[in-house]
Amino acid sequence: MEIAALAEQILKGDRRSLARAITLVESQRADHQAMAAELLDRVSGAGRQAVRIGLSGTPGVGKSTFIEAFGCMLTGQGLRVAVLAVDPSSARTGGSILGDKTRMERLSREPNAFIRPSPAQSHLGGVARRTREAVALCEAAGFDVVLIETVGVGQSETMVSMMSDLFVLLLAPAGGDELQGVKRGIMEIADLVLVNKADGALKPAAQRTRADYAGALRLMRRRPQDPEDFPKALCVSALEADGLETVWGEMRGLLEWRRARSVFAQTRAEQARHWFAEEVRQALLARLETPGARARMAALGAEVAAGHLAPLAAARDMLDALDAPDAGENGP
Ligand code: GDP
Repeated sequence: MEIAALAEQILKGDRRSLARAITLVESQRADHQAMAAELLDRVSGAGRQAVRIGLSGTPGVGKSTFIEAFGCMLTGQGLRVAVLAVDPSSARTGGSILGDKTRMERLSREPNAFIRPSPAQSHLGGVARRTREAVALCEAAGFDVVLIETVGVGQSETMVSMMSDLFVLLLAPAGGDELQGVKRGIMEIADLVLVNKADGALKPAAQRTRADYAGALRLMRRRPQDPEDFPKALCVSALEADGLETVWGEMRGLLEWRRARSVFAQTRAEQARHWFAEEVRQALLARLETPGARARMAALGAEVAAGHLAPLAAARDMLDALDAPDAGENGP
């Protein structure tokens, strides 16, 4: 594959080339990874920027219905929309509950839309890198909005929020008057809480749920740099495409506010710093996974278990071995 030609096609906004490029960044093969690095290097110079929106919600709240309706509204305004998915269940089990193209049939037929399911990776760290690179490719391809969808499990929301300009939590109307066991952590990263299914018989419950969350959000520590009324809770109906214009208006308003105060750029800078540190951490951990390192860990572990070596001394031995120039190549 000719990388220069692929880069050119991506910069022209060609979706098939974008899909091929994402396949390349998702590949585990060393030669593919080298090509992917060259590709990212070539396209990043374009300096294009999309609005990156993270979106989370438990299965069944209406994420795909919402993304389809919201995405179609945006493409209707002439905007180009990319949808990426981060699915922690696919990392664990190989099975996927997100990013299924057939769930967003209308949007996937839009010439200005691009939908990509979650990369199949064995761990979330790998998914994080692939998704970040996919976001960068979508930006280079001139997409105006990149939606990064995830499900409310594990660390995936934090990860997605660290690659998003704003984060949306989608909820369904609650039956009772209790907040639906939403983890405090995710409330803290949400800029917008959207109570979906505010239609028909569910509307009163949706309005009550919205009011409950609005109250809860008021009690939480607001991001001091944001407007007084953020994070905000709103009602929407993805099914009836109701309230979506308002949501987009609120998003744009918040981003304009942040841009005007340099918060937008600062946040991206902090995110870049975070991912740099994370890459270093991942690379260090990977050094424990070479055959030599594993063998040494196993041998030292046996020594410790047998009482021949203290845990701390064994750990020092292991770390010294990793620091040696031929680290991991030879066993102990
Ligand atoms: P996901 O698992 O979060 O992607 O949820 P889906 O988008 O697949 O939606 C789950 C179910 O909720 C489907 O039966 C949808 O038709 C329904 N649903 C989604 N959005 C709405 C809505 O705004 N109103 C109503 N009444 N049902 C909805």
